[in-house]
Amino acid sequence: MAESLSMPERATKRGGERTPLSGRYDVLICGASFAGLAVARELSGSGASVMVLDRYEIGERQTSACGIPTSWLRAMGLMASERQRFDSLLVHTPHGDRRFPLPWSFSTFDYRELCDLLWHDCDASFETAKVNGRAAPTNGSGDIEVETDRGVLSAPLVVDALGWRRVLDPGDRYQPPAAPLSRGLEVHPHGQGKDMEVWIDRRYVPAGYGWSFPADDELRIGIGSFDPRFHVRETTQLLTDDLDRERPGSDLTGQPPEYQGNWIPHKIRSACDGDVFFAGDSAGHCLPLTAEGIRTALYFGIVLGRELRDVVEGRQSRERAAARYASFHDRHEWKFRWMLRVQRLIPRIPPRVLGPMIRLLGARRIVNWSFDHYLKIAPPELAAGSPDDKQGANQQQRDAGDALGAERDLVEAEQA
Ligand SMILES: Cc1cc2nc3c(=O)[nH]c(=O)nc-3n(C[C@H](O)[C@H](O)[C@H](O)COP(=O)(O)OP(=O)(O)OC[C@H]3O[C@@H](n4cnc5c(N)ncnc54)[C@H](O)[C@@H]3O)c2cc1C
Repeated sequence: MAESLSMPERATKRGGERTPLSGRYDVLICGASFAGLAVARELSGSGASVMVLDRYEIGERQTSACGIPTSWLRAMGLMASERQRFDSLLVHTPHGDRRFPLPWSFSTFDYRELCDLLWHDCDASFETAKVNGRAAPTNGSGDIEVETDRGVLSAPLVVDALGWRRVLDPGDRYQPPAAPLSRGLEVHPHGQGKDMEVWIDRRYVPAGYGWSFPADDELRIGIGSFDPRFHVRETTQLLTDDLDRERPGSDLTGQPPEYQGNWIPHKIRSACDGDVFFAGDSAGHCLPLTAEGIRTALYFGIVLGRELRDVVEGRQSRERAAARYASFHDRHEWKFRWMLRVQRLIPRIPPRVLGPMIRLLGARRIVNWSFDHYLKIAPPELAAGSPDDKQGANQQQRDAGDALGAERDLVEAEQA
């Protein structure tokens, strides 16, 4: 991270507690956030030995505003982590504000609680370790060896859910600010609000947006810049100060700000590199334009977990799982490409046109149409299917994949 951040308290093992680590597992999942935990959950009850690694304890380190369509929390049985729900989106521009009533609601959730709920359904092992990269294979078994700061672990099935750094793919490393990454930073002051709000205002960021997502007794206020060279710390503070001034009774600037942030990939990458599988930000699964990456990390994590389950239960080979997962991923690629085009277009729109344009887009039919299509990029139906019904769930996934493929064919035919 380029920003200097004051970090939340670490609960991670230190010093003598960091005993050497080694061993062979059926599945090694690197990264215990949304994507990694979704994969692990799908493997629970399979009988496979699954090891999950992260440099922090599960749920210890939040890096996002934790906003997600409510239907996703519901479909995954995670409603207990919900903090607040919104039926509309309030958009501010220098030329006027517009409230978009949404055809489906959005929720904020508690990161630690959501991770705990996901982990509760897993039967994998967990260790805190920093993943350094792939080690040179030594045992000739075709297993993949992963080097960590506590030792080398191996498995025939390895998942990189480590976020934008994509640590297990030495051939495709991103280096900010040259890489296709957005920059996101936020603060979480105590405070309350009833609206989910965004600001499209070049005073805060030339290309990107600001947000305030209330979550019960805190506000998650931040700035996301599509241009990785634009430093967002100062304008995150500016937006917080502005809100503090505008809203009598609020005390948003009374506490020293604790910044949290990360780079956000805005370009989809490959889903498999020979023998390692990627899900979530490591595969560029965060949606361009909106920077929504939690539901897509869960979505692709679930799909990958189901494919790997078919491998460990003997229904398919690793190669077939890789081909099927890559094909599922590739069927979504055009949607990510389109959203990236719009993201690149926004900074070119003259500010005086932006206000009328947003008012026009606020027509109920247009909002419903666009938000429904947006949700369908990663529909919550895919999450349905109890952990005991993985074969049924996999069939649903195939059906969903077929439906998505058919939808794409239709759109492409329309475009032609
Ligand atoms: C400020 C901000 C606000 C955001 N708000 C939202 C939002 O409201 N809604 C939304 O949908 N998206 C949001 N996003 C995007 C979203 O956070 C990401 O797309 C999402 O977290 C991706 O999930 P993931 O599991 O792929 O990766 P991550 O959540 O990044 O998880 C990666 C995990 O890997 C671990 N890790 C990384 N490197 C190593 C290593 N070398 N060794 C061991 N462990 C490692 C990390 O500790 C972490 O647990 C936001 C992003 C930012 C920066």
